[in-house]
Amino acid sequence: MSQRLVLFDIDGTILSSSGVSAQALGETLVEMFGSDGYSARYDYSGKTDPQIVRELMREVGFEDAEIDRRLPETLRRYSARLAEALRPEHVSPKPGVTALVHALAEDPRVCLGLLTGNLEPCARVKLGPLDLNPRFGFGAYGSDHEDRYQLPAVAVKRALDHTGRAFAGKTVVIVGDSIHDVRCGQSLGVRAVAVATGKTSRAVLAAEAPDALLGDFSDIEASIEAILGPA
Ligand SMILES: [Mg+2]
Repeated sequence: MSQRLVLFDIDGTILSSSGVSAQALGETLVEMFGSDGYSARYDYSGKTDPQIVRELMREVGFEDAEIDRRLPETLRRYSARLAEALRPEHVSPKPGVTALVHALAEDPRVCLGLLTGNLEPCARVKLGPLDLNPRFGFGAYGSDHEDRYQLPAVAVKRALDHTGRAFAGKTVVIVGDSIHDVRCGQSLGVRAVAVATGKTSRAVLAAEAPDALLGDFSDIEASIEAILGPA
């Protein structure tokens, strides 16, 4: 079997952080824009951090030029606020995921990375309490691009820089809990593995026709099989 580049989403896939990131972002938006927008009814699933800021602030009437002007400082303050607010007890791993990540990291058939809408420092802060940072040597983040659909190509480039291997097509596997995780690799023809541990129901994920669909990762062997796919 050729080696797989396996890219994990974080929120809803590896862990939940008890709404602490949404709260930290909301407080930062109030500070920077005077409003947190309609964040209570906003769907964060599969969005990048800068995209979340833009969509929330557009809805309350800010023009893109003004959002762009305030965005770098907003993201900097949000990142600092999250690092300050997030306690280890806020972070809950999804069933089976810790054992799965360790198993994949030890598997010679796998090169493991992240593909997440989180800013890189936020991703690392969230993974810290689970001790999973050493397992993910590289990734593509919301700090690399506002558009999640651009992130798979970034991850492939990082993997090349990191390992010297050029991954393409179905040897790239995106594992995530939202429809955007399933869709974002389509233009590159990657393998998409959806897991119904986030806010998106199994039925909604099934409608996206992912290559594999899991309820959760509690069956490690079945999860590895679903992720690696056919030889
Ligand atoms: Mg997610």
